[in-house]
Amino acid sequence: MKLIMMGPPGAGKGTQAQMLAERFSCPHVSTGDMFREAVKKGSPMGTRAREYMDKGALIPDPIVIGMVEERIDQPDCRNGYILDGFPRTVAQAEALDTSLSRRGAAIDHVINVDVEDAEIVKRLAGRRTCRRCGWTCHVVFDPSKVVGVCDNCGGELFQRADDSEKTVQARLRVYKEQTTPLIQYYQQKGLLRSITGQGSINEIFNRIMEVVDQNHETTSGE
Ligand code: AMP
Repeated sequence: MKLIMMGPPGAGKGTQAQMLAERFSCPHVSTGDMFREAVKKGSPMGTRAREYMDKGALIPDPIVIGMVEERIDQPDCRNGYILDGFPRTVAQAEALDTSLSRRGAAIDHVINVDVEDAEIVKRLAGRRTCRRCGWTCHVVFDPSKVVGVCDNCGGELFQRADDSEKTVQARLRVYKEQTTPLIQYYQQKGLLRSITGQGSINEIFNRIMEVVDQNHETTSGE
């Protein structure tokens, strides 16, 4: 299963991508997580990436494309992967297509998770992330058991620099300008399936599975 999760920041793509990866026993490839890891390690790429991330801007295409190509060439991606946060520009989508067709492969589904702007700002401004394991919660909608402490590993919860309200607005602007054209790109290829991102985590997951299953039936019935 080769699946792309699309949607604005805060749509819940990461959570859903992780659940899909478990369901399909394949890696969850999140470019945001990969860059955050590089920042944490203080690698040269991390230092460069941070300048863009803290502003809510996109990291230049050649850096992102090179990193993703290297990742999906790993043996654990042989049977598929769930891409989360990539592609984010038409140039990235085209590079992915070229690289897949060179390998005789193709994307199975593109899931677009739709959420309104006002809801996104509310979700992201209240999001807290564990410094140690990356677990996330929401101070109002889904609080941790102990304030400031991760339920998963006991690590410290913090607000990502790019989850501040000002940066969230910038990320949304960037999403509209650079990533929305991808909706049309994948629509033209007949791969796009839009679902609403409102509701519980399980409701959204079921919506995605319905779309994926429908397509499975269509494909196997041909
Ligand atoms: P995310 O966690 O997916 O919202 O990504 C966090 C930040 O990482 C973004 O705001 C960008 O600065 C950077 N980033 C992640 N994926 C990409 C991508 N495909 N292209 C460019 N920048 C990216």
